[in-house]
Amino acid sequence: MPEGRPPIPADLERAVKLEAGYRCAIPRCGHQRTQVAHIKPYRDVRSHEFDNLIALCPNHHDLYDRTKEINRKALLQIKANLAEINGRYGELERRVLDHFVVARRNHRSMHAAIQEYFGEQDADGLFEAFLNEAVRQGVDWNESVQHHVKALAAGTIASRQQPPASIELAYGLGLMLRNLLRDGYLKLAKPPGVAGSTTLTVEHYQLTSEGEEFVDRWSRAQSLEFEGDDDRGPEVPTE
Ligand SMILES: [Zn+2]
Repeated sequence: MPEGRPPIPADLERAVKLEAGYRCAIPRCGHQRTQVAHIKPYRDVRSHEFDNLIALCPNHHDLYDRTKEINRKALLQIKANLAEINGRYGELERRVLDHFVVARRNHRSMHAAIQEYFGEQDADGLFEAFLNEAVRQGVDWNESVQHHVKALAAGTIASRQQPPASIELAYGLGLMLRNLLRDGYLKLAKPPGVAGSTTLTVEHYQLTSEGEEFVDRWSRAQSLEFEGDDDRGPEVPTE
């Protein structure tokens, strides 16, 4: 800490961490241990202001401050997106968005690993053999990728080519997803193979193509641009 630099007030630190849900604000990271980082360096601004502070994990803090692998423009966009998402969506909606960001990241890492393993070949048979072997051995990837591979092998993820785009939630939570539904980013999917069933206990929600784009923009630190605001109108899907 540079000489004469006052500590960040505890209230401010809490507010900054809360803004990112007590996780690293880099959308594809989400690490639980966070530090408060200055977007414009403290030595230039000589103050601690909420708008210039963001919660980062030690690794991303370092990638920003020291190695400059994250640029300021991207971090400013992430900060702006946090405000946008926090203002617009409730906690469950933010968790649903986060779920898709992580699921898509894992899907990408898995595909990268598979390509590395097989080179250009990606025939179904090879893929199957790879998955079985990966599950049997517990491949040396991070846990979430392994989890994803197991889910794929177990057939609980419909498509190998497409990243997962649906989530199963307890029946009746639709009301808490209303803004995502209204914005056209999420839709209620048909319950799979339920015929003549008496009580639904879960519902499947699916990203729309706009929702997929939205999640990608969010995870790539691009502007979220809520373009649908004016022309989509107040129509709320039946829940
Ligand atoms: Zn991080």
